[in-house]
Amino acid sequence: MQSAPVDGSTREAVTIIHHPDVRRMLMRMRGLTEGARAMATYAAGCQDMARHAPSESERRDAKAMSEFLTPLVKGFSTENGVEVASLGVQVHGGMGFIEETGAAQHYRDARILPIYEGTTAIQANDLVGRKTLRDGGATARRLSGLIAQTEQQLLQGSDQAKAVATRLRAAREAFDDVVSHLLSLDKSEMPEAFGTGVPYLMLAGNLVSGWQLARSLLVADAALARGEDPEFMAAKIATAPVL
Ligand SMILES: Cc1cc2nc3c(=O)[nH]c(=O)nc-3n(C[C@H](O)[C@H](O)[C@H](O)COP(=O)(O)OP(=O)(O)OC[C@H]3O[C@@H](n4cnc5c(N)ncnc54)[C@H](O)[C@@H]3O)c2cc1C
Repeated sequence: MQSAPVDGSTREAVTIIHHPDVRRMLMRMRGLTEGARAMATYAAGCQDMARHAPSESERRDAKAMSEFLTPLVKGFSTENGVEVASLGVQVHGGMGFIEETGAAQHYRDARILPIYEGTTAIQANDLVGRKTLRDGGATARRLSGLIAQTEQQLLQGSDQAKAVATRLRAAREAFDDVVSHLLSLDKSEMPEAFGTGVPYLMLAGNLVSGWQLARSLLVADAALARGEDPEFMAAKIATAPVL
């Protein structure tokens, strides 16, 4: 219980879930978590396809995609694990910083994650060098093309879906720009390419996670129209624009 609500409905203290910024932080925690999980699941699906897709070319493409996504799953997800745990401390305020809630312990535990998966910079080096430059941007461009297809599907959907399409396109275009820029650099400019690797990794992770949340929105919209599990589907739809 803390502070009166901003809507003026009472002058009494309310539970903190009624404060808009607490709700914002919880939504951000949910969006980052669900987006990272969906990205990891999609990457795992690519690994399955790399082994079991019917044709040789599908297996080769799926392998390249799973390899492209691996540094994103490792680097983006662990960096945001720290962010989510930090927001968890903030949600609890002073109680989050001291020990009783357990929130501070989660924060300390999460802090090692971007180091023990090899460090974020090593994942970013892999993304820039082996995953983007080595095939001349082919996998990055194919990923961008898949995301553009989802944008087209979103544009046929609800107002919320159309709004998500606009944001997804902006993120994809930013990704396309970075890929083009990296490909334009010559050997003497490689320190610049690798020096901006971590921001590129975070941009790409945000894009792919946001793409997966957008795909969830499409599935949830269709399920909601069939009357399936309205509360769960509404939560998926509300979470999609968070990233
Ligand atoms: C609790 C814990 C659990 C672990 N579990 C595992 C595990 O299960 N499997 C496993 O394989 N390893 C594990 N590790 C090891 C982990 O992979 C290494 O800690 C990690 O690779 C960083 O190496 P380092 O600590 O020696 O730091 P250093 O290599 O000394 O690097 C220090 C910093 O320099 C920068 N840096 C270093 N090299 C580069 C580079 N080439 N490009 C850009 N920046 C660079 C980074 O910012 C890095 O954080 C674990 C480590 C810890 C602490």
